[in-house]
Amino acid sequence: MNHTVIDIEDAVVSYREDVALRGVSLRVASGEFIGIVGPNGAGKTTLLTIINDLGKLLSGKVWVLGNYVTKTNRHSLRKQIGYVAQLQNIDPKMPMNVREVAMLGRYGLLGLLRRPGRHDWKIVDDVLELVGMTHLAQRPIGHLSGGEQQRVAIARCLAQEPKLFLLDEPTASLDWKAKTDIIELIKLIHNSRHLTTLLVTHELSALPVACDRIVLMKDGLIWGNGSPEKVLTDENLSQLYDIPIPVVKARRQESTPT
Ligand code: ATP
Repeated sequence: MNHTVIDIEDAVVSYREDVALRGVSLRVASGEFIGIVGPNGAGKTTLLTIINDLGKLLSGKVWVLGNYVTKTNRHSLRKQIGYVAQLQNIDPKMPMNVREVAMLGRYGLLGLLRRPGRHDWKIVDDVLELVGMTHLAQRPIGHLSGGEQQRVAIARCLAQEPKLFLLDEPTASLDWKAKTDIIELIKLIHNSRHLTTLLVTHELSALPVACDRIVLMKDGLIWGNGSPEKVLTDENLSQLYDIPIPVVKARRQESTPT
């Protein structure tokens, strides 16, 4: 049994009038790939923010990588957590190329005053190769497609050499092919870098192949939790989203019998 790397106990988060999490408990083992699913406003983003310390607990406790998160250790813990958000609008005139943007991921480790050395550039070039962006390394960041921009966002996150890989709707507003490619890339990275991954997504059809476990969220609560086969049923999803949703029968790849 792998050890626990995220442990959330009865977390409550509120933003003035909205209660975003109403007592959420979740334990994640090292190496798990978890898909987090639920309607808009369910609390999915907020759940990620209490792990990477961007959100503030009203009550409850959070342990990350074996450490109870406190004011004093949260900064150092955050360095070990990679976070990829939804596609952002980038000014086409932004004066940085792909390689330089990926290097931004290392500044948390380097400190602002230290210049990146050969070792840092090697890490950046390796992650650009992993995400398939080597050929565009010198291209200005604002001159990329949405799918390419998300690959760079993932490279920047990996340049940080994280232990936890958190992604918040990384495929939103991409076309169907780019969505599929990005989810496949995330799975490849998860496996090759031995990460623990939490993916918030509305791409239900991609989840059974990618995820070990699915967490369903609704109204600030965890509403379902288990293997994709157990949790992603027509009945569960229709109740979760309050409309009939037939499950797309995507299956894990199984080896053909010889
Ligand atoms: P979506 O799928 O739309 O991204 P979500 O499941 O990620 O939704 P959250 O973004 O976590 O949901 O939001 C949960 C609740 O908290 C919502 O009611 C939302 O309006 C509220 N909320 C989130 N962020 C803030 C904020 N910064 N200020 C006030 N309310 C917020």
